[in-house]
Amino acid sequence: MIRITSSKKNNELLDEITTLSKIRNALLNDKIARKICKEKGMGEWFLAGVPIKFDKIKQSAKTVDSHIILNKSLLKKSFDIIMRYVIHELTHSIQHVQNFRKKDTKKDKEDYLDKDTEVEAFKYQVEFDAENRGQEKAEKYVEDLLDYHKLKGKDRADKKDELLDESH
Ligand SMILES: [Zn+2]
Repeated sequence: MIRITSSKKNNELLDEITTLSKIRNALLNDKIARKICKEKGMGEWFLAGVPIKFDKIKQSAKTVDSHIILNKSLLKKSFDIIMRYVIHELTHSIQHVQNFRKKDTKKDKEDYLDKDTEVEAFKYQVEFDAENRGQEKAEKYVEDLLDYHKLKGKDRADKKDELLDESH
């Protein structure tokens, strides 16, 4: 059967699949991705199977029931930036399969950057960023994140130390 679709759409799909292929390869060989598996007691086979796709979403990236969804707009970003999101969401993906029975609704009311699940994901993300773009750029990213969440004074200093600390 022949389907006639616009070539623009076809190119977009091809772009997505090309990038997804690059992501999968990078993920299977990435030091931080493997470290996440090891530290969370998950086999590295998880990296080969975790579902990842591009879609039109409000956030830059999100994970729904272990499925990683990346905003289509990320296709225009550099590969390091895309992978930074993938590393963050990979952490959530493993959290979902490990914690799905322990859903704590109270935790949802906590400030975003105080949630254990977010701290863990951001720490791996920042470590990946420092590894790939350098410590300085990773720290700048953390400063921007703290600005965005309007953290000031001691809370800000403590959160910065926490996110930049490589021990998990
Ligand atoms: Zn998150």
